[in-house]
Amino acid sequence: MRGRRALPELTELTAAHWTSGESGRLSVQRCAHCLRWSFPPVSHCRHCWRDDFTYEPVTGKGALLSWTEVFESVASAPQPPYLVAVVELEEGVRLLLGLTDASRDALRVGAPTRLVFEPIGEGVWLPLAELEEWEQPEDRLEAVS
Ligand SMILES: [Zn+2]
Repeated sequence: MRGRRALPELTELTAAHWTSGESGRLSVQRCAHCLRWSFPPVSHCRHCWRDDFTYEPVTGKGALLSWTEVFESVASAPQPPYLVAVVELEEGVRLLLGLTDASRDALRVGAPTRLVFEPIGEGVWLPLAELEEWEQPEDRLEAVS
Protein backbone atom coordinates (compact mmCIF):
# COMPACT_ATOMS: atom_id res chain seq x y z
CA MET A 1 0.00 0.00 0.00
CA ARG A 2 1.34 3.37 -0.97
CA GLY A 3 1.43 6.13 1.62
CA ARG A 4 1.21 9.84 1.12
CA ARG A 5 4.31 11.82 0.21
CA ALA A 6 5.43 14.58 2.53
CA LEU A 7 4.56 18.01 1.16
CA PRO A 8 7.23 20.70 0.87
CA GLU A 9 6.69 24.03 2.59
CA LEU A 10 5.51 26.59 0.05
CA THR A 11 7.14 29.97 0.62
CA GLU A 12 7.50 33.09 -1.49
CA LEU A 13 10.83 31.68 -2.70
CA THR A 14 9.76 28.09 -3.34
CA ALA A 15 6.09 28.14 -4.40
CA ALA A 16 6.77 28.75 -8.11
CA HIS A 17 9.15 25.79 -8.19
CA TRP A 18 6.80 23.32 -6.50
CA THR A 19 3.61 24.34 -8.33
CA SER A 20 4.97 24.88 -11.86
CA GLY A 21 4.72 21.22 -12.82
CA GLU A 22 1.00 21.66 -13.40
CA SER A 23 1.95 23.42 -16.66
CA GLY A 24 4.16 20.50 -17.65
CA ARG A 25 7.36 22.52 -17.26
CA LEU A 26 9.47 23.18 -14.21
CA SER A 27 10.12 26.82 -13.36
CA VAL A 28 13.51 27.69 -11.89
CA GLN A 29 14.66 30.94 -10.32
CA ARG A 30 16.79 33.08 -12.65
CA CYS A 31 18.61 36.31 -11.89
CA ALA A 32 17.14 39.20 -13.87
CA HIS A 33 20.52 40.96 -13.88
CA CYS A 34 23.15 38.31 -14.76
CA LEU A 35 20.65 35.71 -16.12
CA ARG A 36 22.19 32.84 -14.15
CA TRP A 37 19.90 30.09 -12.85
CA SER A 38 19.65 29.42 -9.11
CA PHE A 39 18.62 26.24 -7.43
CA PRO A 40 17.71 25.92 -4.66
CA PRO A 41 16.00 29.34 -4.64
CA VAL A 42 17.89 32.09 -2.84
CA SER A 43 17.10 35.63 -1.69
CA HIS A 44 20.19 37.12 -3.38
CA CYS A 45 22.03 35.96 -6.50
CA ARG A 46 25.16 34.09 -5.51
CA HIS A 47 26.95 35.50 -8.58
CA CYS A 48 26.09 39.22 -8.59
CA TRP A 49 24.33 39.68 -5.20
CA ARG A 50 21.27 41.33 -6.73
CA ASP A 51 17.85 40.40 -5.41
CA ASP A 52 15.85 40.73 -8.63
CA PHE A 53 14.68 37.31 -9.83
CA THR A 54 12.20 35.80 -12.22
CA TYR A 55 10.99 32.21 -12.48
CA GLU A 56 11.41 30.80 -15.96
CA PRO A 57 10.52 27.38 -17.35
CA VAL A 58 13.41 25.05 -18.16
CA THR A 59 13.42 22.53 -20.99
CA GLY A 60 13.31 19.59 -18.60
CA LYS A 61 16.03 17.86 -20.63
CA GLY A 62 19.04 16.72 -18.67
CA ALA A 63 21.62 14.05 -18.07
CA LEU A 64 22.10 11.55 -15.29
CA LEU A 65 25.10 12.39 -13.10
CA SER A 66 24.73 9.97 -10.20
CA TRP A 67 22.16 7.80 -8.45
CA THR A 68 21.49 5.55 -5.52
CA GLU A 69 18.86 3.05 -4.52
CA VAL A 70 17.01 3.63 -1.27
CA PHE A 71 16.15 0.47 0.65
CA GLU A 72 14.85 2.02 3.88
CA SER A 73 12.97 5.27 4.24
CA VAL A 74 11.59 7.27 7.13
CA ALA A 75 8.92 8.76 4.88
CA SER A 76 5.67 6.95 4.20
CA ALA A 77 6.03 7.24 0.44
CA PRO A 78 7.32 6.09 -1.88
CA GLN A 79 7.74 2.58 -0.64
CA PRO A 80 11.36 1.38 -0.84
CA PRO A 81 13.25 0.28 -2.75
CA TYR A 82 13.31 3.27 -5.08
CA LEU A 83 15.91 5.13 -7.12
CA VAL A 84 17.09 8.70 -6.47
CA ALA A 85 19.30 10.54 -8.95
CA VAL A 86 21.26 13.73 -9.41
CA VAL A 87 20.33 15.15 -12.81
CA GLU A 88 21.94 18.13 -14.50
CA LEU A 89 19.51 20.03 -16.68
CA GLU A 90 20.57 21.65 -19.97
CA GLU A 91 20.50 24.98 -18.13
CA GLY A 92 23.21 23.74 -15.74
CA VAL A 93 20.86 23.33 -12.78
CA ARG A 94 21.42 20.19 -10.73
CA LEU A 95 18.42 18.55 -9.09
CA LEU A 96 18.04 15.61 -6.74
CA LEU A 97 15.05 13.71 -8.08
CA GLY A 98 13.25 10.44 -7.80
CA LEU A 99 13.78 8.27 -10.88
CA THR A 100 10.61 6.81 -12.29
CA ASP A 101 10.18 3.71 -14.43
CA ALA A 102 13.90 2.93 -14.43
CA SER A 103 15.78 -0.25 -13.78
CA ARG A 104 19.04 0.06 -11.87
CA ASP A 105 20.78 -1.95 -14.59
CA ALA A 106 19.79 0.58 -17.27
CA LEU A 107 21.42 3.55 -15.53
CA ARG A 108 24.57 5.10 -17.00
CA VAL A 109 26.33 8.37 -16.30
CA GLY A 110 25.33 10.78 -19.05
CA ALA A 111 22.07 9.01 -19.89
CA PRO A 112 19.55 11.58 -21.15
CA THR A 113 16.59 12.33 -18.90
CA ARG A 114 13.41 14.34 -19.00
CA LEU A 115 11.22 15.69 -16.25
CA VAL A 116 7.79 14.32 -15.47
CA PHE A 117 5.50 15.49 -12.68
CA GLU A 118 3.35 13.82 -10.07
CA PRO A 119 0.64 15.83 -8.30
CA ILE A 120 1.02 15.12 -4.58
CA GLY A 121 -1.60 17.46 -3.14
CA GLU A 122 -2.25 21.12 -2.28
CA GLY A 123 -1.12 22.29 -5.71
CA VAL A 124 2.33 20.68 -5.43
CA TRP A 125 3.66 18.84 -8.48
CA LEU A 126 6.70 16.74 -7.63
CA PRO A 127 9.31 16.73 -10.40
CA LEU A 128 10.70 13.30 -11.20
CA ALA A 129 13.31 12.18 -13.73
CA GLU A 130 12.60 9.64 -16.42
CA LEU A 131 15.22 8.12 -18.72
CA GLU A 132 14.97 8.95 -22.41
CA GLU A 133 15.54 6.25 -24.99
CA TRP A 134 19.16 6.36 -26.09
CA GLU A 135 21.90 4.42 -27.77
CA GLN A 136 24.37 3.48 -25.11
CA PRO A 137 27.92 4.30 -26.26
CA GLU A 138 30.30 1.40 -26.72
CA ASP A 139 32.50 0.74 -23.74
CA ARG A 140 35.58 2.91 -24.24
CA LEU A 141 37.84 0.72 -22.15
CA GLU A 142 40.20 -1.34 -24.25
CA ALA A 143 42.60 -4.03 -23.21
CA VAL A 144 46.19 -2.86 -23.03
CA SER A 145 48.73 -5.39 -24.17
ZN1 LIG B 1 22.92 37.52 -10.74
